[in-house]
Amino acid sequence: MCDDKKLQFTCRECGTHELGYQKYTKCMTPVSLQGNGHTEYGSSVIDETDYLCDDEGFVCLNCQAPLEHAGYLIKTEKELIDYLTMDPQVREEKEQASMSATMES
Ligand SMILES: [Zn+2]
Repeated sequence: MCDDKKLQFTCRECGTHELGYQKYTKCMTPVSLQGNGHTEYGSSVIDETDYLCDDEGFVCLNCQAPLEHAGYLIKTEKELIDYLTMDPQVREEKEQASMSATMES
């Protein structure tokens, strides 16, 4: 079976299809003092190994709404694919189930 149907992300908040990946990394920018009251900023160095893993995940590129499903943030490609390939009805049922679970607790 050849299923090459292109997956498409649709933002629940704003309806665009622009998908982004957000990651908080340590970013260092060298600053040099010029002596005449001016400062010069060099090119930023992003340390990809030093990031907050709790705050990464897929977001809408347009409104930055995080992608979440049934109360969980979608962080990995596998979760993203699962989410996008999920039957919309099943997806809705899971959302509802997590909503009522939240209200009961
Ligand atoms: Zn959006």
